[in-house]
Amino acid sequence: MYRKVDPYRPFGGAQAEAAIAECRDLERSIDYRTALFRAHRGVVIAAGNYTYNLELLSRYRPEFAICHREMNRGGSMGCDGSGLELGLSAGGQLANMDAVALMRSVSPPNAYVAGMLVNARGERYINEDAYLGHIGLATADQPDYVCWLILDAKTFWKGIRQLLPPKEMFSWWGMPAWLNILLGGTKRGASIEKLARKCGIPAEALRATLDTYNAGVAKGVDRHGKKPANMSVLEGGFYAINCSFRNKWSFSSGMPFGGLKVNEKTGAVVTGEGASVPGLYACGRSAVGLSTATTFSGLSIADTIFSGRRAARSAVLGQSEPGNDRT
Ligand SMILES: Cc1cc2nc3c(=O)[nH]c(=O)nc-3n(C[C@H](O)[C@H](O)[C@H](O)COP(=O)(O)OP(=O)(O)OC[C@H]3O[C@@H](n4cnc5c(N)ncnc54)[C@H](O)[C@@H]3O)c2cc1C
Repeated sequence: MYRKVDPYRPFGGAQAEAAIAECRDLERSIDYRTALFRAHRGVVIAAGNYTYNLELLSRYRPEFAICHREMNRGGSMGCDGSGLELGLSAGGQLANMDAVALMRSVSPPNAYVAGMLVNARGERYINEDAYLGHIGLATADQPDYVCWLILDAKTFWKGIRQLLPPKEMFSWWGMPAWLNILLGGTKRGASIEKLARKCGIPAEALRATLDTYNAGVAKGVDRHGKKPANMSVLEGGFYAINCSFRNKWSFSSGMPFGGLKVNEKTGAVVTGEGASVPGLYACGRSAVGLSTATTFSGLSIADTIFSGRRAARSAVLGQSEPGNDRT
């Protein structure tokens, strides 16, 4: 199958839809027979998230669906929500379906953390040294998901030097930054007003944002809580790097974290009334878990392993009694 459908293509925005269509054609073309299996101890749904199900994305995270052609969707090829459908068909319930990781990185290069992230109105909306998952979620709340990273020339070129080989040029993290700078529509302006006009931002608004930011640098305070060590006065010629979700070169990415509601002790899928569905368990991103409540790199893998072991243990021991059904 991998020879026919490149497994790396699904990450590539619009290409994912083409790959999904190819997979469907492939499945239809295979001469298959239906086989029934009886599970004596239990069934564990471990079918990942619903990142490649546009209908579910549109319902629960419309911005992700709207930008799906430009954003990278995190998940495995088969993450189409079919595991969730299976759980629902047995009486299960979905929960926290709008929980999502949306990733928008400012660095590398490290120097760029000193810049200002502004929306289409020219307003800052988060501290630029925040975790990339928090920047992504905040960007999802901005008009048209527009996000520009405003830098002065000194900071812009300092970042370019940090990206130069051999340090980060060929690393996974440095390469997207290069591509975005070169192909993503980077703008340059001799003044902040000229830059604003090129970005389609009201010039007076961006000027006011810059003045407020620079005044904060002088006092060592920032209304968004940015660390003073990551701030510097921005002055002289300016650059703007396009970090908008709709810019495919910004390599913004996301993955949904909602899933089937489960009994916290056993991992059993629970009904709307909180009763466990006998013999049916869910784990990883098919289930509500720790990473559903708060996104942080590493938490999802950890939760997947923990919840997978819990569900497997319960299935082997035949535990699916109703009990604690907090999610
Ligand atoms: C690029 C990327 C980077 C990530 N980085 C991090 C990170 O730094 N830290 C972190 O904690 N997490 C990270 N994650 C998330 C983490 O990988 C997932 O949360 C984790 O793999 C979820 O495990 P899972 O077993 O629930 O689902 P998956 O690993 O997606 O496995 C589910 C499997 O089920 C298959 N499947 C789906 N439906 C069916 C079906 N109907 N029939 C048969 N098979 C089916 C899928 O094809 C897939 O192989 C990252 C994910 C991606 C994509």
